[in-house]
Amino acid sequence: MELHPRMNQRWLLTTRPHGQARESDFTWDEGPVEALAEGEVLVRTVHLSLDPTNRVWMNEAESYLPAIALGGVMRGGGIGVVEESRNPRFAPGDLAAGLLGWQRYSVSDGRGLSKVTPMPVPFTAYLSALGHIGLTAYFGLLDIGKPKAGETLVVSAGAGAVGSLVGQIGKIKGCRVVGIAGSEDKCRWMRDDLDFDAVINYRIENLQEALRRHAPEGIDIYFDNVGGRILEVAIDHLAMRARIVACGMISQYNNPDPHGPANLGRLITKRARIEGFLCTDYSGRALEAFTDIVQWMQTGKLHYRVDVIDGLKNAPRALDRLFDGSNTGKLLVRVSDEPAAAVIPTVSSGFLN
Ligand code: NDP
Repeated sequence: MELHPRMNQRWLLTTRPHGQARESDFTWDEGPVEALAEGEVLVRTVHLSLDPTNRVWMNEAESYLPAIALGGVMRGGGIGVVEESRNPRFAPGDLAAGLLGWQRYSVSDGRGLSKVTPMPVPFTAYLSALGHIGLTAYFGLLDIGKPKAGETLVVSAGAGAVGSLVGQIGKIKGCRVVGIAGSEDKCRWMRDDLDFDAVINYRIENLQEALRRHAPEGIDIYFDNVGGRILEVAIDHLAMRARIVACGMISQYNNPDPHGPANLGRLITKRARIEGFLCTDYSGRALEAFTDIVQWMQTGKLHYRVDVIDGLKNAPRALDRLFDGSNTGKLLVRVSDEPAAAVIPTVSSGFLN
C-alpha cells in the first residue's frame, strides 16, 4: 500500500456502549494517510459536528444509517479543507462538508461530500444555522409543523442548536412560543435574548402545571426534540388539530429499553397528527432555507450559539455534553485551523439526525 507523507489521528469505535457512551468505548489511533487513488480527495477536518444521533449510530441495530462497524473510525459530520485532489469536482483549498469521521484527515471518493462556496459568515455557521441544523429547524417547523400566526408553539430542548432556531422561526411566523429547557441560564437566554413568550425549566418546574399556565388554549404545534416524559406531558395539552413534529428523542438514546408515551389515544380525540422527518429529506431544498436564514441573521431576527471544544482528543468526552445538557449551543470540536476565507455551503451538508 502506498502511503502519504501526512500522519492521521483518529478515534475508532471499539466497544458498543450500553447506556451512555464512555471514552473507553473508543481507541485513539495514529498512522500515515493512504496515497490517493484516481477519483479520490483528501480533506483536512477543521470542525467536527457532535450530534445526539452519534450515540444512535454506535448501537448494533441499524437506524437510518448502518451501525458503525466495530474497529472502524467513529462516524461524524464535519467540515474541512481539501488538501489534495484526484477528483475533478474538488480542488486544493476548496471547503468540503460531509461525514468526515472523527479523524484529522479523511480520504473520500467524493460521494456524500458537498463542496462549499464563499460568503461572509462566521466559520461555525456551516455546521449550525447554515448547515444541517438550520435545515432541520426550518423545514421541520415550516413543512411538518405548518405554523399559522397566533398559534401556540412549544419546543423542547428550546435552547439547543435545533430548538433555539425553531423558536425564533416560530416568532418570525407570528406564533406564541414556549421554550422548555433544563437550566435557568438557558431559560434566561430564551426569554431575554431570543424573545420567547414563555419559558419552562423542566428540571425544577411541574411541567403539567406550567403548560396549563403557558398554553391555556392548548398546544397547536409541539416540536419534539426529546421524546420520553416531556413528549407524554405535551400530548396531554394538545389543542384540536395539533401537530407534533417528531424531530428527535434524545432522552431515549442512552436508554437500552426505550418507552413511548402511554397517552397516544389523545391524538384521536384531538384529531392531532404526529410526523417524523430527517433533515436529509430536504437536502435538495437547502438554498430555500439558507436564503431566509441568512436574511434573518443579517436583520438581527435570528441568532445562534456554538459550543466549540478544542482538540480531536476531547471528542469522546465532549459528546457527554449533549446528554447532561451542559452544551450551550451547537456542539463542535475544533480539529485544526480554519482557513482565512469565509464561505457558505451551496448545497446542504444535511447528513445528520
Ligand atoms: P442540542 O443542542 O439541543 O443538545 C441536546 C440537548 O438536549 C441538551 O443540551 C439538553 O438540553 C437536552 N437533553 C439531553 N438529555 C435530555 C433529557 N433526558 N431530557 C430532556 N432534554 C434532554 O442538540 P441538537 O439541537 O443537535 O439536537 C436536538 C434534537 O434534534 C435531538 O433529539 C436530535 O437527535 C434531533 N435532530 C434531528 C434531526 C432530524 O433530521 N430529524 C437533525 C438534527 C437533530 P437541556 O439542558 O434543555 O436539557
